[in-house]
Amino acid sequence: MLSLYIHTPFCVRKCPYCGFYSTLYSEQRAEDYVAALRNEALGYRSDFSRRLFSTVYIGGGTPTVLSNEQSARVMRLIKDCFNVTEDAEFTVEANPHSAAQEGLSQWQRLGVNRLSLGIQSFSDRVLQKLGRLHTADQAVDAFRSARSAGFTNIGIDLIYGAPGQTMAQWGESLAAATRLTPEHISLYSLSLDEGSAFKRKADSGTYALPDDELVIGMYEHAVSTLFDAGYARYEISNFALPGFECRHNMNYWERGEYLGLGPGASSYVAGKRFDNIPDHEEYARRLARGQSAIVDCEEVTAEQAARERLLLGLRTSRGVDLRRFHDEQGNNSFRRLQASLPALSDAGLIRIIDGRMRLTDRGALLCNEVLTRLAV
Ligand code: SF4
Repeated sequence: MLSLYIHTPFCVRKCPYCGFYSTLYSEQRAEDYVAALRNEALGYRSDFSRRLFSTVYIGGGTPTVLSNEQSARVMRLIKDCFNVTEDAEFTVEANPHSAAQEGLSQWQRLGVNRLSLGIQSFSDRVLQKLGRLHTADQAVDAFRSARSAGFTNIGIDLIYGAPGQTMAQWGESLAAATRLTPEHISLYSLSLDEGSAFKRKADSGTYALPDDELVIGMYEHAVSTLFDAGYARYEISNFALPGFECRHNMNYWERGEYLGLGPGASSYVAGKRFDNIPDHEEYARRLARGQSAIVDCEEVTAEQAARERLLLGLRTSRGVDLRRFHDEQGNNSFRRLQASLPALSDAGLIRIIDGRMRLTDRGALLCNEVLTRLAV
């Protein structure tokens, strides 16, 4: 499967936990970006003229800070340069503070059929600690605006393990989320991303890391609350009502191909992984001069591919096909892997049924430990 990702690197303010490449929005920066994006897309048009894109994801950053005119131009360049299937999943990321109904209605009219809302919490205290610009009430309003705009497939993101966050606050956020019945919920354990303000505070010893047991308890509480509300966990951090799994992300976990446009975007096409320069000014300059925005490119070896398939597949509820791993990696690698499985199985972290290896609930919680103990 082939996916298209468009990185929109603008935000109204930088959140203190965020390590994604983004810069502050200004109309001029966005103008330069949209012009460069069009040049980049035109450069790929002939190479991809015979290929069909099954999912499109406009992420960021905050794509919904673009003006209506700019977002219309982004949608036009996608249609002009790429073949997107009739039934493609087409997602745009939005933040509650920039999710006015008029703008959302326009994205919807232009063909976007899935919205990913960065709500993060329904507790004003937690939102403040996370440096977010919206309140819990605005999050609910944004969700309702999205429904009124016609979105029938909405995902929301929630963060746990935030500074000072209590189990009670987390429980209230989960309850508020399930009351809205979004089709999809992603849970993120707050991590200290390189380059973020929280990471700098942690390095200088002024950031109090949350207690591990509390964070594990929050995940367990979320799993049982979401199961009770009818959501299935199809990946460690992702839950969906039946039929609403995110196809775009599934393509990443299944190691499908994707083309990424925009500053800092990554691609994986024809066995090669390549990254665009994570600098909006240099990105625009290069494309204006007719140069490529790619700064890194590596050929993924068959061995790397099989290892990635194992590590990514294990995160999903479908798990890993051990026979396929054997066929791709050969006897030696398979024997090494096999030798590491009994201890993980005895510890209740994995189970193997019908030749597929999957994480147990406990294994999902301790996923990083499982991945380091797998001999691959
Ligand atoms: S978390 Fe989202 S809104 Fe906040 S700075 Fe990062 S990309 Fe922007």
